Order: sequence, then C-alpha cells, then structure tokens
Amino acid sequence: MKKLITAISIAMLCLGSAASYAKTVKIGMAIDDLRLERWQKDRDFFVAKAEQMGAEVTVQSSNSNEQTQISQIENMISKGVDVLVIIPYNGQVLSNVIKEAKLEGIKVLSYDRLINNADIDFYLSFDNEKVGEIQAQALIERRDNGNFFLMGGSPVDNNAKLFRQGQMNILQPLIDEGKIKVVGDQWVDGWLAENALKIMENALTANDNNIDVVVASNDSTAGGAIQALAAQGLAGKVVISGQDADIAAMRRVVDGTQSMTVYKPIKLLAETAATIAVQMGNDATPQRNSKLNNGLKDVPSYLLTPIPVDADNIMETVVADGFHTKESIYQ
Ligand code: BGC
Repeated sequence: MKKLITAISIAMLCLGSAASYAKTVKIGMAIDDLRLERWQKDRDFFVAKAEQMGAEVTVQSSNSNEQTQISQIENMISKGVDVLVIIPYNGQVLSNVIKEAKLEGIKVLSYDRLINNADIDFYLSFDNEKVGEIQAQALIERRDNGNFFLMGGSPVDNNAKLFRQGQMNILQPLIDEGKIKVVGDQWVDGWLAENALKIMENALTANDNNIDVVVASNDSTAGGAIQALAAQGLAGKVVISGQDADIAAMRRVVDGTQSMTVYKPIKLLAETAATIAVQMGNDATPQRNSKLNNGLKDVPSYLLTPIPVDADNIMETVVADGFHTKESIYQ
C-alpha cells in the first residue's frame, strides 16, 4: 500500500500536479554560462517550477570558467544543499568536487550536458546525437555537395561531441562518395559568437571564400559565423545550421541568412529537471527512458526529443509552444 501511494504521488509529481513532499529541498544550480540566451531561460523555468514545488534554489553562473564553477559547487556543498543541478562548463573536471558532494549525501543531477567520470545520480537532456542528425539532414536537403566547413561547439562540452557524431552519421556517406569536401574543422571555445566570428573569417580567407555550407552546432556560433559571411557578402548564400531557436536566430531564419535551427523545448526540460531534483531530494527514483555511460558508470537518463525548425514551420513549433511570440520573430 505504501509503495502504491508513493508511486501515485511520484506520478502526480511528474505531471506537475500540486503534489508535494514535506521536506523543503535545497537545490544548488551551477550553470556554465548565463551570458548565453538559452541558459537564462533554463534558469527561469527551473527556478519557477522548483519554487512552486516548495524547493529553495540558489543559482550561480561560472561564465565558462572551470575553476569558478568548481568553487561555486564547493560553496553550495558547504551551504548544505540537498541536490546539485549542474550544467558543466567542462564535464571532464568535476569528478573530485562530485566526490565531495557524495560524501555529504548530496544528489547530483547532470543537466543538459553529461558530466564524465563522476558518480552522478541522473542525467536529463535532449537526444543530442539526434540534434546533430537533424542539423546535417536539413543542410544536405538544401545542398548535398561542395565545400563544407565543420564548426563544432565547445571542445570541453560532451554535447558538442554528440552533435558532431550525429552530423557525421549523415555527412560521412556523402564525404565517402566524394560529393562533400570538408574544407575545415574547428571547435569554438565557450560556444562564443566572437570566437566563431574569428574562426569563420580565417576559414573564408583560407578558402578564398569558397565555402558552400557551414555545419554550425548552435545559434550563438552560427550568429558569429554569419557576421563573418555577411562581411563578404555571403550571408544567405551559404547554407548554415544552428540550434536553440534563440530569438536572434529565428529572425535570421526569417531573413534567410540562417537556414535552420533546432528547437529544444527548454520549459519542458527545465520543469522536468525541477521535478526530478525535488524527487531526488526526497530519495525518490526519477523515471528514466535511457542510460548513458559517462566513463565511470551507466547513468540513469531521461532524453527529450529535439525539433527541426526552418522558415516553413516557425508558427507550428516555437510560436505554438509559446517559446517566442509571432511579433518578436517577424518584425
Ligand atoms: C547545449 C546547447 C547550447 C550550447 C551552448 C550545449 O551543451 O546543448 O543547447 O547551445 O551548449 O551553450
């Protein structure tokens, strides 16, 4: 009977109902970089949902600094949080600080990006390999031959590698056939637009502007690349991908300077994370639909589905979902 009641209350919790636990769960949310638009949304939705469920949340952003993020997590541990929700800047360097957390009985949720080689309790994200496949598929539907420039994300973000893996699942057969020539392959530190801009400028110079397609892994890097393309009169001529459905990217998609983006319903991700964090803070086991090996263990995971967006389906996707208003996109 007790088990049944627990199961029902967890199910209600998952559905976002008013069900709540007696304990006030203290959550520390360590975000890589709030300078990027998408993470502000993640924070806002997460905090709102967690607070609605009676939790207390402290948020910190490391602004893409490894050491800062470790100190922030240590600080949260010493403040006695029950659950850490971490969006790692560098997923490779948190093993020790997570060991400290586990010694204090703190639960760890790896949010959006996998933390490698660490004893984390749960991973919640989108199907990131699928994101890469969606990007590459959209690109080759527009142009399946010529000179392709690969622009990866942050080299220390596990997601960046998964996006690339997905992109190559689609591109490799065409590369092998000789239809696609890869004329450059660079990774953008911190996913920052200014770094992407410089990389694209250099790539254009190195290739005498002879680039047909840019495989950009997200919207911030696409934005930087498009600025470099625009300076050469190539914006709108070169096919280029993105991800996140940032407002600036949506406007570029409408203008035709960015070919597509990938919409990942952040509200769903953030609210599911808040629900899972509160469950973990109450020693309940969150529902999973996958598991990913992080080098140390198979981490119970829940992966959500990404959605391709281009000029033709903006209304049915990001607008219908309330992610952006029609007016803010079509100006
Ligand atoms: C996320 C992307 C985001 C990128 C830069 C990735 O880990 O999955 O949505 O654009 O980080 O912040």
